[in-house]
Amino acid sequence: MTVRFSAGDLRPASDDATLNSSLATLAIHAGPGPDPTTGAILPPICQSTTFVQAGVGRHKGYTYTRTGNPTVAALEQALGALEGAPPAVCTSTGMSALTLLCLALLKAGDRVVLSEIVYGGTVRLLRDILSNFGVAATFVDTADLVAVKRALSERTRLVLVESPANPTLRLTDLRAVSELARAAGALLAVDNTFLTAALQEPLECGADISVYSTTKFIEGHNSTLGGALVSRDTDLLERLRLLQGALGVAQSPFDAWQTLRGLKTLPLRIREHTRSAQRVARFLEEHRAVAAVYYPGLESFAQYALAREQQREAGGVIAFDLRGGGDVAVRVLESLQLCSLAENLGSVESLVTHPATMTHSQIPAPERARLGIGDGLVRLSVGLEDPVDIIADLDRALNAGGA
Ligand code: PLP
Repeated sequence: MTVRFSAGDLRPASDDATLNSSLATLAIHAGPGPDPTTGAILPPICQSTTFVQAGVGRHKGYTYTRTGNPTVAALEQALGALEGAPPAVCTSTGMSALTLLCLALLKAGDRVVLSEIVYGGTVRLLRDILSNFGVAATFVDTADLVAVKRALSERTRLVLVESPANPTLRLTDLRAVSELARAAGALLAVDNTFLTAALQEPLECGADISVYSTTKFIEGHNSTLGGALVSRDTDLLERLRLLQGALGVAQSPFDAWQTLRGLKTLPLRIREHTRSAQRVARFLEEHRAVAAVYYPGLESFAQYALAREQQREAGGVIAFDLRGGGDVAVRVLESLQLCSLAENLGSVESLVTHPATMTHSQIPAPERARLGIGDGLVRLSVGLEDPVDIIADLDRALNAGGA
């Protein structure tokens, strides 16, 4: 079978309810295809800063890697095609993708409405940096549609949500919020890092932009940093691309190549991450040291119905609260042997983080407690080890640290 998809092709429909099989094919074949000069099945890593020009004003589409590079373009083409969109705009990190998005859309006097539970770096960007440039941010519980509506004003240019949100996995009804944003004349951007296009399609739910830290599930092997912005709005893409070059936030060719390779197994990996996470979440729910488990695949999850409606699967990240709070959390985290205490998620290795002291430490304790990010909260990114071994490691640590 020869499958050749170019950027902008709409994904063919699939009858696989759990994981779109055409997406599995796209993840492997979307992109420019074999190298025309050598037939290499993977695009060569075009590790060159500059490109020799045939004459003044005459070149092959690339002039300088900050403004465009063939290997980065291959990744951009593949990531766009996964969502039925033109080539994505890829950046050096997830944070530079978010920064680029904000700088492309906002000016002094504009307002952003965003989820009150988001990655700590996004809070820092809006609250501590863009505020110095006259951009105001309103943090609301975006699961509360009345609160979202109240927060929107004619000055709101952008609504930015994470669903599931880092670290509590709180969901936002993307279709409902997209309608509210549109009615207010604002764009909706969804940080889809936790699920990726394999499990949730923000653009199909009405969002204008999907945002990614490719550092997580998309590359998946803890070996690169990267970000991506995906949109079907060609004017917006043009502006993003202009700023990508102007700001100097481009992805590096080698990291783009590794991300492209990781992308090929994304649907396969995320299906296994999800299967294992479901087993681990059920185990945690039964453990006496655990006070509560937050996982959209559990019937006990407060927004289980919404998860079933807008996500294909629950994904590979679980949050849970330990009885006994921070001291117990520290003991449990330090007793784990297979699951590593580390600040990342979505990789083949199982990783645990303590949001209160790591990813969300800059949020004052009372505010964290109000948001459900207490000292006893643990975030677990379930890796691709045998789930039996992951559960055994957790069981031992919970019994040792939680006793
Ligand atoms: N968005 C989410 C949801 C994240 O979890 C992170 C990082 O943890 C980022 C964005 C930032 O990505 P990066 O670390 O690649 O800059």
